[in-house]
Amino acid sequence: MKITNEIYMLEIPANIMGTSSIINPTLLRDNEKVILVDTGFPGQLSKIREAIENEGVAFYDLGMVILTHQDIDHVGNTSSIIKEIQNNVKVFTHKEEKPFIDGEKKPIKLAQFEAKLDYLPENMKEIYSKLKAGFESSKVNVDYTMTDGEELPYCGGILVIYTPGHTPGHISLYLKRYKTLIAGDLLQIHNGKLILAPESTNFDMNLTKMSLKKLLNYDIETVICYHGGIYKDDTNKRIAELGDLL
Ligand SMILES: [Zn+2]
Repeated sequence: MKITNEIYMLEIPANIMGTSSIINPTLLRDNEKVILVDTGFPGQLSKIREAIENEGVAFYDLGMVILTHQDIDHVGNTSSIIKEIQNNVKVFTHKEEKPFIDGEKKPIKLAQFEAKLDYLPENMKEIYSKLKAGFESSKVNVDYTMTDGEELPYCGGILVIYTPGHTPGHISLYLKRYKTLIAGDLLQIHNGKLILAPESTNFDMNLTKMSLKKLLNYDIETVICYHGGIYKDDTNKRIAELGDLL
């Protein structure tokens, strides 16, 4: 879905723990660069490619992948994209998140599964095995680590906002020209309402709260949530409300 000439929200069908859903990587492009923010579940390369091409953007023009965080639905096709485009794609993420993405540390969701593996029912053990294999195949070298407040010189300026909480190194991106926030999994939309990711999926709720406060420094008109899509309804006020609830 085209949001502006430089911002496209992709809509990729996915199955999350048995429930069919849509995930929303964002495609950014200007005259210089084509950037994909988050890459879907492992095995979705052809869907991602198709979604990019349906927006009239050449898949092979992709030059950069920005990963908001380490979770499998966000990192899943990064390595296959690089393989397909032959190393011309650079991978960006926050430095706190890098070791989980390049395989130096065990991804948090996998470690959480492992801690309770003996007590899990068979079907959950199967999900665990899939997740483990998925992370294994998704390990990827990170080319560049971004810091809080850094501005990437594309699409009128992409501000990197360090918004830990969902994971230790989660980032959000603020597109200055469009007053648009790419929220990763800091925020979601459910039944038309902007909400937080479920507490069970958050690494640290105190950090989440601080991250929400931080967002209030920005004039945000539009939010793109990886789970839920676009939100535009008095956004800063709603974010403030969410912060107060915690
Ligand atoms: Zn997610």
